[in-house]
Amino acid sequence: MRRIQSVPLVVLLLALMGCQLGAPQAGPPATLVAPSTDSSVRELVILYTNDEHGWMEANSRSGGAAGMVERWRSEEGYVEDGPYLILSGGDMWIGPAISTWYDGESMVEVMNAMNYDAAAMGNHEFDLGIQVLRDRLAQAEFPFLSANIRSKGIDETTSHLAIPSIVHEVSGVRVGLIGLTTTATPRVTMPRVIAGLEFVPYQDVLPDAVSRVKAEGADVLVVLAHVCAEELRELAPLAASLGVTVMGGGHCHQPYTEIVNGVAVIVGGGYLTHYVRVDLAVDVATGAVLSVTSQLRPNPPGAADPEVGAVIDHWRVKADEALNTIIGYLNRPIQRHSDAMFNLVTDAWLEAYPAADVAITNRGGFRQDLPAGPVTLASVVAVLPFDNVLYDIEITGAQLVESLNCSTCGAVVGGMTALGRYVLDDGRPVDPTTHYRVLVNDFNYEGGNGFRFAQYDPAAYNTAVDWRQPVIDWILARRTGPDDPLDNYLDTSARQ
Ligand SMILES: [Zn+2]
Repeated sequence: MRRIQSVPLVVLLLALMGCQLGAPQAGPPATLVAPSTDSSVRELVILYTNDEHGWMEANSRSGGAAGMVERWRSEEGYVEDGPYLILSGGDMWIGPAISTWYDGESMVEVMNAMNYDAAAMGNHEFDLGIQVLRDRLAQAEFPFLSANIRSKGIDETTSHLAIPSIVHEVSGVRVGLIGLTTTATPRVTMPRVIAGLEFVPYQDVLPDAVSRVKAEGADVLVVLAHVCAEELRELAPLAASLGVTVMGGGHCHQPYTEIVNGVAVIVGGGYLTHYVRVDLAVDVATGAVLSVTSQLRPNPPGAADPEVGAVIDHWRVKADEALNTIIGYLNRPIQRHSDAMFNLVTDAWLEAYPAADVAITNRGGFRQDLPAGPVTLASVVAVLPFDNVLYDIEITGAQLVESLNCSTCGAVVGGMTALGRYVLDDGRPVDPTTHYRVLVNDFNYEGGNGFRFAQYDPAAYNTAVDWRQPVIDWILARRTGPDDPLDNYLDTSARQ
């Protein structure tokens, strides 16, 4: 256990000691420095998750949301009215269909049932547009916090989206919660959605935010940040000097728990596969944090909380019914290993992520033809049955060409042609030393089929977006029917 004490309090006590020691009739200094009696010390437990990404259901890696709550009860002693604070680091609902098809409504309902107290505003909270975000804010029984999102001033549609901070009282401890959102948000979000917003550097907003929650009487300061651990480590000296005790992170899904400059920096992985438990002892008489410890805990499949489980079951039934939803119409089937199919999928990815130059995936991922007649969600799922997500990577032109020529990989490509010459769709020839942004699936990113993307770009961005979702969105956007079938919109040309 690592013990820390807020610096201002130590300074104050030393000053008091100095005064009293020189004064006549003063009692022994020990009584003066004793910061508290036992009755003013409160224990507080933070249960922390981040990047839930809609993974409410149990699977081979995770007990899901209902399993998590049951585990909190059995392993962490969690009770609703106990000294527990349930917090999220943001990116709550973009992920599998059960969440994304319902604009995150299902996931927020699940998180309400899990009794979350607050969440950081993540970049993916913006993905489905400002109106969807407003709907989720209205639905959530907990605030989405961010102190570094600023409206550019004139655009009222995007202002007042996030609350910078709150003071939340639990078991007599006043916890100041300050939100931060990754400054990478403009790089990874559709520009039109966040056009009215600025994402201010963390260090520029933290001092004011701390002053505000302190003025509101906070005993403990917790930064709830949708920010990678590496950046939080850099922020730790400033946070420590301001008296921050815990910084919860996210965005990068690597689990992390470390005390940095006396600040507990925690990241719970993602997809509800893990959580972090933080134990705090706080003297509410003096505001001193007497101790802080943190531990990463797994959430393997197991028993499920019935109440949260019922919410998930309800949405599972709806999602199964939704598979019959018709999203377009096709006159002639699209063969699974045809140029039309490869182009449809890679072009759809690039339409969803216009900042990327190229999209690459593997032939083996296409499992069925798209049959003629009404196109349903189920038929798209049948073409791409694996639960993959998109990665946004940056590689050189030489690495791009090497990937396309890899003999085991079976690369198919969008955004460029490789017919003897390597030329991007905008006419630029691929230059060996120039860096390009490329969309790939997570299976290929991690080396599936022999691709070397993880070696080329170890710091790639995991968008967490289901790889089928852009394809569904692309088909929907064409508004096809028997009179104007999807066939009219397909690019059947060979690119390799
Ligand atoms: Zn994120």
